Amino acid sequence: MRLQAFGVTEPTTGSDTTKLKTRAVRQGNHYVINGQKVWTSRARHSDLMLLLARTTPVDEVKRRTDGLSVFLVDLRENLGHGVEIRPIEAMINHNTTEVFFDNLEVPPENLIGEEGQGFRYILDGMNAERILVAQECIGDGRWLLRKGIDYANERIVFDRPIGQNQGVQFPLARAYAELEAADMICRRAAALFDDGKECGADANMAKLLASEATWHAAEATFATFGGFAFAKEYDIERKWREARLYQTAPISTNMVLAYLGQHVLGMPRSY
Ligand SMILES: Cc1cc2nc3c(=O)[nH]c(=O)nc-3n(C[C@H](O)[C@H](O)[C@H](O)COP(=O)(O)OP(=O)(O)OC[C@H]3O[C@@H](n4cnc5c(N)ncnc54)[C@H](O)[C@@H]3O)c2cc1C
Repeated sequence: MRLQAFGVTEPTTGSDTTKLKTRAVRQGNHYVINGQKVWTSRARHSDLMLLLARTTPVDEVKRRTDGLSVFLVDLRENLGHGVEIRPIEAMINHNTTEVFFDNLEVPPENLIGEEGQGFRYILDGMNAERILVAQECIGDGRWLLRKGIDYANERIVFDRPIGQNQGVQFPLARAYAELEAADMICRRAAALFDDGKECGADANMAKLLASEATWHAAEATFATFGGFAFAKEYDIERKWREARLYQTAPISTNMVLAYLGQHVLGMPRSY
């Protein structure tokens, strides 16, 4: 098995992907790549990296989405020879990194598809990623909820299980309902994707709803555990920190809402 990192996000351009600054220039038998990616997950453990870089300057293309290309970079072969990877210390154990490219030479056969069409390929992959992340998220939400429910049933305070109190029980019940609803839309998105049908709206809604449902499950369970939520021993604080990620990555909630507002509901572009 060969692991693969995904290099899209850059430090100075963030969600505004088409402004990314990493450049790939054809020189003789190679593309020469210079630039930087940030928040590249698992780069230090990956054999390969799917890298999005600009091959045609933005002022020479009709649309900003043109002129971007995807390359397959061999991280093992090039580490220390044009590729440098630096870990980022983060609040979750996600093993994320900054990756620097300094005159990295990539053979033309490592260009994926057609030069200049890379943004479309990346967008295609993003629906799959959103569905996948939504399901990962629902799994985390269910784990958290199970922990919360078990604790609510076992923990006795004021001579009764804390789960008997509506203040404890209702947030858990609400998170359960939200997780089930998110799961349904996620399955609908996956079915559309599997049938090769347009699934952008559902993939985005699945990611949005799952990330929020999971966060509500994390919050409800955190509250249920009282002070013990803070003890590392129970893993609640760790999963609570991890559950927060899904509202930010791989795409932030605001950008999902902007997609729905513009592409699904037909309102003006907000940015
Ligand atoms: C742990 C982790 C792992 C990651 N792994 C990867 C990876 O493997 N590969 C990769 O390429 N990237 C990865 N990312 C990056 C992730 O996709 C980005 O962090 C995310 O897309 C947001 O981009 P940004 O951080 O640059 O935020 P920015 O784009 O700077 O946005 C900051 C805030 O402003 C809001 N905002 C910005 N513009 C608008 C607008 N027009 N309207 C409304 N709100 C707006 C955003 O919603 C966000 O809340 C990872 C991030 C993290 C934290």
